[in-house]
Amino acid sequence: MREESTTCCIAGGGPAGMMLGFLLARAGVDVIVLEKHADFLRDFRGDTIHPSTLQLMYELGLLDEFLKLPHNKESEVAVRFGDEEITAADFSHLKVKAPYIAFMPQWDFLDFLADHGKAEPHFRLLVNARADGLIEEHGRVTGVNVATPDGPLAIKADLVVAADGRRSDLRAASGLSVEVLGAPMDVLWFRLSRKQGDHNHTFGQIAGGRFFIMLNRGDYWQCAFVIPKGSLESLQAKGLDAFKDGLVALSPALADRVPELTNWDEIKLLSVAVERMQRWWKPGFICIGDAAHTMSPIGGVGVNLAVQDAVAAANLLARPLREKRLADSDLAAVQKRREFPAKMTQMMQIAIQNRIITPLLASQGPIAPPFALRLVQRFPILRRIPARLIGMGVRPEHIGPELRPVQR
Ligand SMILES: Cc1cc2nc3c(=O)[nH]c(=O)nc-3n(C[C@H](O)[C@H](O)[C@H](O)COP(=O)(O)OP(=O)(O)OC[C@H]3O[C@@H](n4cnc5c(N)ncnc54)[C@H](O)[C@@H]3O)c2cc1C
Repeated sequence: MREESTTCCIAGGGPAGMMLGFLLARAGVDVIVLEKHADFLRDFRGDTIHPSTLQLMYELGLLDEFLKLPHNKESEVAVRFGDEEITAADFSHLKVKAPYIAFMPQWDFLDFLADHGKAEPHFRLLVNARADGLIEEHGRVTGVNVATPDGPLAIKADLVVAADGRRSDLRAASGLSVEVLGAPMDVLWFRLSRKQGDHNHTFGQIAGGRFFIMLNRGDYWQCAFVIPKGSLESLQAKGLDAFKDGLVALSPALADRVPELTNWDEIKLLSVAVERMQRWWKPGFICIGDAAHTMSPIGGVGVNLAVQDAVAAANLLARPLREKRLADSDLAAVQKRREFPAKMTQMMQIAIQNRIITPLLASQGPIAPPFALRLVQRFPILRRIPARLIGMGVRPEHIGPELRPVQR
């Protein structure tokens, strides 16, 4: 078996893993990031880069370069209930360099981090490399087994980080327990073309048991259609035409392009989950991002939380890793720092699931906007509260003194 060694081996090249890998390498820590796919070009990725992440880019001195990538700016988030449009959040008052959500395909964001990581001598990204087990010695994780096209590889490391998402292989291998909090919905994910004259905004549409979101990805709309969990089979039994009719009933402007959907294979099922670990770490090993606390898509905040976890972990772990004196208390400090924001955010997602999404998916006729949204519509100043929660999150992180670039 081939062997490699590094200081920190990160499984998963998503927002959590790529950000952590880049920050640690920039701070002089030897890092290997493993990504099981060949690239980041997966269709399903959250596309939202929040004001807090843009602020981190600013603190890293990368904001101007980052914003040269194609993106759409949204200073407000609007939801349409039947014919009534409600502005739910207004980011323009946030005291940050870029007070808006940048909608950008996530592969561009990850490529950007990968390119900046690769410019660091301490950074290595291995693609087509699937972490498939932990190496443990005397009660401590000392490395990770990796499946590659060239055969198995063993990577020894002072720290292994599981940033491999909500179906985390390494979390399962660690034996650490996970609490399942449940989600009442799944999402159907498909594309429809964008046409001249279409508006530019990403928006949500709610009516009679249906919840439909359209993300602007340039020449096409990435569509997310929310369904009750486990209901795909009954939807399919009613036929594709009935599904398309439902879409047109929600958004009549789509009538000329729903014929683009010719079979169910073009419509992917994304299963939604809300879970969290009780303990995120054990000696030599820690989980961050969705691996530690799987987020529902509600509020579009999962990418943001994953990035925030990475920054907190880098702030707390860069020096002990660099000085080869990583202790269990350093790992416990990462969980202590990030557990509260993750729990609070999940509590809000679950409250919205129970109070809004579940009744909405069960309703047949028109549905009235919930009281909280009516209030926000009536008193625009209140739109700053959801903007703060969505845009910045609970306890936003900053690039700390330990993460200054190493002198070369
Ligand atoms: C339907 C749906 C829509 C969503 N929409 C949004 C949104 O619009 N905005 C938002 O902020 N959040 C959204 N989320 C949540 C968001 O996707 C996650 O919270 C976020 O991606 C977590 O980032 P991560 O880096 O922890 O994990 P991931 O993004 O899941 O990244 C994990 C990475 O690890 C890789 N990997 C997995 N296993 C291995 C392995 N064994 N070895 C090596 N690599 C591995 C994967 O290929 C992947 O690249 C959505 C979630 C769902 C379910």
